[in-house]
Amino acid sequence: MEVTRGLHHRRTLYRAKDTACVDVCPVDCIHPAKGRTYDDGRPTFDEVPQLYIDPTECIDCGACVPVCPVTAIFVMEDLPEKWHAYIETNKNYVDGGKFQPDKYQKVSS
Ligand code: SF4
Repeated sequence: MEVTRGLHHRRTLYRAKDTACVDVCPVDCIHPAKGRTYDDGRPTFDEVPQLYIDPTECIDCGACVPVCPVTAIFVMEDLPEKWHAYIETNKNYVDGGKFQPDKYQKVSS
């Protein structure tokens, strides 16, 4: 279980690229957003296999969980064991509020 700032952040998992979660997120912390480019050089929506939740920006409101059509978002403590590898997958994209270019390129090449 990963705990940051005392909160149990939710992550996008299981190669989910549906955007219903993006539409309901009040703090715009699910990336990459469709049609957006980023100054930090991160891949765009069309270039990634799934979406990722920035745990630094996430306020743990839970709005994204019920709207996900493929049950891809979990509170960390409820994450099924079979999906634990996606904790690292998410961290390889965004960690500490920042895109991780080296880690992301390493796992996607
Ligand atoms: S829990 Fe709330 S703030 Fe966090 S990703 Fe989901 S909708 Fe956004």
